[in-house]
Amino acid sequence: MHQITVNRLVVDVVRKDIKNLHLAVYPPNGRVRVAAPLRVDDEAVRLAVISRLAWIKRQQAKFEDQERQSAREHVSGESHYYQGNRYLLNVVYHDAPPKVAIRNKTTLDLFVRTGSDTAQRERVLLVWYRKDLKHMIPPLIVKWEAIIGVKIADWGVKHMKTKWGSCSIEARRIWLNLELIKKPVHCLEFIIVHEMVHLLERHHNDRFIAYMDQFMPQWRFLRDELNRAPLAHATWEY
Ligand SMILES: [Zn+2]
Repeated sequence: MHQITVNRLVVDVVRKDIKNLHLAVYPPNGRVRVAAPLRVDDEAVRLAVISRLAWIKRQQAKFEDQERQSAREHVSGESHYYQGNRYLLNVVYHDAPPKVAIRNKTTLDLFVRTGSDTAQRERVLLVWYRKDLKHMIPPLIVKWEAIIGVKIADWGVKHMKTKWGSCSIEARRIWLNLELIKKPVHCLEFIIVHEMVHLLERHHNDRFIAYMDQFMPQWRFLRDELNRAPLAHATWEY
């Protein structure tokens, strides 16, 4: 992949063995990506981008708007997602250590210190999310190590803007996006399997897809579920 700049717009260009040029704009940052046939040069890509500049700007404006709407203040009445379900946030101010609890399968009670601000309330929820996700991961890795026949040396959770997961093949380490805690567990499992399959095949080629079809035949359905709005604030990158 390389980048070209068109009218101050940075465009990722990927050359592939495909018939037609494909242009896409991705959330959350409005990244522009062109997949171009091998025979199409950068000048032709540039012209294609220019001819669709108005559409690109409209898409980017839409994503910017979505980002604004998804900004959370962590006050009572907001919707927050956990393991694929939507919960109503209920903030309780108290003078005791902070905690989070689920009530009646509908409400997320967020207990914070009296006088906590937005950032402090958010941090309490994120700590809880992270702890919970870190709890869910090890049994899934153990399960899939046996099925796939690979060993993971290390794993971690972090916030990533454009990826659900990543795999460092040399270190045999996988990273998982903290946002996965908002998705159904089988989506987390899909990403773990995907990253582990990279230990068998680095690239997203036919061999990789054949492994996915073998180990997790329903993976396309899971991928689509993962990237579906309104949960998606990021699009999983290949
Ligand atoms: Zn991958």
